[in-house]
Amino acid sequence: MIKVKHKITIDLLLFCIGVYLTIAGLILSFGEILTQKETIWASIFALLFCMVFSIGINIWRKNKILDLQYKYLDTLFNSLDQIVIATQGTYLSNANQSFFDFLGFKTMEEFHNKHSCICEFLEKIDEEDYIYQDKGGQNWVKTILENKHIHYKGSIIRNGKKHIFSIRATHMNFDEFERSIVIFSDITEIAEHNQLLETKIRERTRDLNRYVNLVDENIIISSADLTGRITYVSEAFIRRSKYSREELIGKNHNIIRHPDTPGKVYEELWTTIQKGEVWRGELKNKIVSGGYFWTENNIYPNFDLNGNVIGYTAIRRDITDRKIVEELSITDALTSLYNRRHFNHMIEVELQRAKSDNLHLAFVVMDIDNFKKYNDNYGHQMGDSVLKSVAKIFQSSLSCNRGYAFRLGGEEFGLILSPLNQQNSLDFVQHICNEIYKAGIEHKFNNDFGVVTASFGICYVEEVNSNLISDELYKLADESLYEAKHNGRNRVELKIV
Ligand code: GH3
Ligand code: MG
Ligand code: MG
Repeated sequence: MIKVKHKITIDLLLFCIGVYLTIAGLILSFGEILTQKETIWASIFALLFCMVFSIGINIWRKNKILDLQYKYLDTLFNSLDQIVIATQGTYLSNANQSFFDFLGFKTMEEFHNKHSCICEFLEKIDEEDYIYQDKGGQNWVKTILENKHIHYKGSIIRNGKKHIFSIRATHMNFDEFERSIVIFSDITEIAEHNQLLETKIRERTRDLNRYVNLVDENIIISSADLTGRITYVSEAFIRRSKYSREELIGKNHNIIRHPDTPGKVYEELWTTIQKGEVWRGELKNKIVSGGYFWTENNIYPNFDLNGNVIGYTAIRRDITDRKIVEELSITDALTSLYNRRHFNHMIEVELQRAKSDNLHLAFVVMDIDNFKKYNDNYGHQMGDSVLKSVAKIFQSSLSCNRGYAFRLGGEEFGLILSPLNQQNSLDFVQHICNEIYKAGIEHKFNNDFGVVTASFGICYVEEVNSNLISDELYKLADESLYEAKHNGRNRVELKIV
């Protein structure tokens, strides 16, 4: 049992002297009423009164504190935790029922019959990490004595089961008696649960890393900040673009932009992702060493926790092979212009577009003059190279105008021009006609020109109405071409619808 020892503390002594001096002062102020003997007795009486009064207050105060400490201990002892009170960290002076139950002792006597002190008991427990050792190698008792509060984890094997404890030791001063209160909280379930969670997290992290590596290896991914500066590229991206990681990170994303991609595509892309929406579409990308690769892209905005867009991630699928097949299927092998099949498709698309956007449209048919004679005299192979040269002039003239160039068949070529006005269309076609003539490809059998020339028929549509069909357009352009031939060749004729 904890004993309480009372002693007068300095604060109480000072209080006592203060009260005494006050009373003494009062007595002296009545000096004329009291005799000298009475004054001495009054002083002695006042002094005794003050001493008894202060000792009384002291006892009352100490009892109050002890009372609170016992109440605290009572509450503690009733908990399910195992609690012991040790004197100077060694002798077990008290323990709660839970402690005895857990360790199989009925009473304190039984405990002391077996163990001389808590320290000796703890050290007998055959579990390595139970006995606390700090970094300096001190045992737990010494540590408790030297630290007001310590908290650590240990374990005890009891009835074949390992119990994990959270051990908290606190010093308490019962008057001048130092006591260590050691609380053992069985956290086995929590610890096991945590262990299970940790194992699961480890497994999940391992799986996740495997997936991330698979994705990184096989999917062309890149991330960029709000300004388009690259912040991440996957291994697959590096392999495909042939850039090194260092060449890409920190650079603007347009480093892989292929010049063939119209600016309009990128404008639409940026408008979409800046709104926080996903952009989906196909893009032609540049390879560092030259060449290109086509990708089907999903570009997602990245959000922070508050929902603000902080960057973008592009997930791409390589569709180069498909695009090559697609391009081959719409390209003329000899001239590399679009073929007749693509013309059939594009004329419908452009007619529709001109109709809905209320645009002008010009369709041009070009036929090389006296080409049969050229073949007959210079050979078919030379004829082929003329076709290539004319196609090149055709294509390069087009680069500064909106339109498409086709090889419609044999030595017949086509142009769809939009949205040039009538005069501009005429001027533009006349320019091509002149360019072919100026190329000066020898053709002695082409009337008086002496060089390769071509005739052009234009069908100019001022306003595309819903009744106009592509066959009609073709027929009218052909009629213009016939006129050009009829009127001497190496010239342009135009019909307006
Ligand atoms: P015109 O001025 O009236 O057009 O006279 P033309 O001789 O050009 O007459 P036409 O258009 O009927 O002749 C087409 C010739 O083009 C026939 C053929 O020898 C030649 N040709 C058609 N396709 C090819 C080709 O792929 N290669 C070569 N070398 N010649 C071709
Ligand atoms: Mg012909
Ligand atoms: Mg011809």
